[in-house]
Amino acid sequence: MNATEMDELDFGDRSRLNWQTVTALALFHAGAIAALFFFSWTNLIVTAIVYWMAVSWGIGMGYHRLHTHRGYRVPKWLEYFLAFCGTLALEGGPIYWVATHRRHHQNSDTDLDPHTPRHGGFWSHMGWIIFGNSMHSDTERNGKYAPDLLKDRYYRVLSEWHWVPLTVLGIVALIVGGIGMMLWLVPLRVVVGLHTTWLVNSATHMWGRRRFSTKDDSRNLWWVALITFGEGWHNNHHAHPVSARHGMAWYEIDISYLQILLLEKLGIAKAVYAPNLADLAADAREKTGEALPRAA
Ligand SMILES: [Zn+2]
Ligand SMILES: [Zn+2]
Repeated sequence: MNATEMDELDFGDRSRLNWQTVTALALFHAGAIAALFFFSWTNLIVTAIVYWMAVSWGIGMGYHRLHTHRGYRVPKWLEYFLAFCGTLALEGGPIYWVATHRRHHQNSDTDLDPHTPRHGGFWSHMGWIIFGNSMHSDTERNGKYAPDLLKDRYYRVLSEWHWVPLTVLGIVALIVGGIGMMLWLVPLRVVVGLHTTWLVNSATHMWGRRRFSTKDDSRNLWWVALITFGEGWHNNHHAHPVSARHGMAWYEIDISYLQILLLEKLGIAKAVYAPNLADLAADAREKTGEALPRAA
């Protein structure tokens, strides 16, 4: 690896723990366990709704399929709202998330990939977050990979202050529902959301079926798709990254895509790129040399 590549990589010292991140994650995991002593149906239902908003609207439909890959278009107010929902997952601001994910696609399962299981299953799951320099707050530097977001003042401000919406949510939950609701809505929900998202980086690059012969190790894993609203159809996604639709066969449930489809039917989402397997097979017959789908 040459010096420029080292600079591009910039994970800092991979063997050194980032104590700030470790402390925050330890506190959130402790809070998540404490939440289990405050079970109520109200806490469960409110938490499930905010989990859906953060992980499906915020990460799946927003940060991932819209802000990173631009698989469809929506009016600016909705684009901004989806990014706001994304901050509730505590996966960093939109510029950091988009930059990290674009680096993952550019360099999937090479030494330049921020989180490949070729560096170990634990590394791809959470090691890459807790070791070295994960660049969470370096907006200018991350912006090199997300110039489209960097030129928008809203995304710059939201990226700098990405933890504020979650903090406000925690305070409101504490006032309205007490300590139990706060523990459910913030640490428990965030910890579950982080692990389900991380499974897309770890499990779906290790286990599951490969429909497309992509250069990376991506796989389709149904149970990760279920808990992430469709993100687990990850081999489909690596083969066709711009597609707003990750579950390409009828039995590949993809809740985030169904919501994008609903927005399209309502005339709110435009230019939705969502090929199905039949479209892709027809395309592949015309152009050879692309990632060919195997029998479905
Ligand atoms: Zn991947
Ligand atoms: Zn992607």
